[in-house]
Amino acid sequence: MQKKIKYAVGIDLGGTSIKIGVVSNDGKTLYKTSLDTEADKGPDNVIKQIKKGIHSVLDKNKIKVKGIGIGAPGVVTLKTGTVENPPNFPGWEKIELGKVIKKEFNLPVHVENDANAAAVGEMIFGAGRKYDSFIMVTLGTGVGGGVIIDKKLYRGEFGAAGEIGHITIDFDGPKCNCGSFGCIEAFIGNQYLVNSIKDELPNHPGSLINKLIEQDYVNLTPKIIDIAAEEGDEYAISIIKAVGRYLGSALASVSNLLDVSTFIIGGGVAGFGKPLFDEVIKTTSSRVLKPLQNRVKVLPAKLKNDAGIKGASALVYYVTG
Ligand SMILES: [Zn+2]
Repeated sequence: MQKKIKYAVGIDLGGTSIKIGVVSNDGKTLYKTSLDTEADKGPDNVIKQIKKGIHSVLDKNKIKVKGIGIGAPGVVTLKTGTVENPPNFPGWEKIELGKVIKKEFNLPVHVENDANAAAVGEMIFGAGRKYDSFIMVTLGTGVGGGVIIDKKLYRGEFGAAGEIGHITIDFDGPKCNCGSFGCIEAFIGNQYLVNSIKDELPNHPGSLINKLIEQDYVNLTPKIIDIAAEEGDEYAISIIKAVGRYLGSALASVSNLLDVSTFIIGGGVAGFGKPLFDEVIKTTSSRVLKPLQNRVKVLPAKLKNDAGIKGASALVYYVTG
């Protein structure tokens, strides 16, 4: 029997932009738009922008939607859709975002932490569809995580579960933004990674990276490392392998803790591709307890473009079917 097509609004609330789209229950984005978050103007303004964006996609489409899903940074309380202390949102402490949006549009609203929404997105539309349990890892400015166990998102006691980025991999290591030391994020989060390469690059004068950034560190991004590695640059390849080793050692701990051995990796740094995935799987397999060794799977995320919008809309289908 053919599945009846339904629609939902998905909102990816980020520190610089708000991405909004209408996504069908077979994972297609029908229409999307993007607005500046203007987070520095305060939370009331951010809410104004979100409402404006939703009105714009709904008015243009005249489509009946099942509900609105919002992926937001910070800790989220499900019942009220309360978003607490999202990083990079000045003045935003605790706001019942779900309630506010529901009141405006009179539609069911599901708010979830953005990394958790990414995991739900992969479960409903992406690489996680055929697995009962998996861990989603998003490599970006931060290192986000989402835990799916028996087709359900594991949220923990307060909805803050899945913070893989803050697993300590070196207890004497560099200070992390979270206040702890030696978290995996303090090694492979975009900014930390770029900073450590800046420090080391003078020791590699022959590296292609120097040429690609035209001696200006502003141009140094994970993408540049990827390009240099594809050209066979040894230093760039060694960076990618190191990222894989750091990540793999953290994932081995996760696997031992939860007995979940499938990992789905997305986000910008996942663009390093095969060399990264090979190293992650090698490290994870060699470090998990013996019975798990042959079961470790590391897969690239399937949702790439619009991943945030699709993950957020998947929250609606996850709850309502
Ligand atoms: Zn940390």
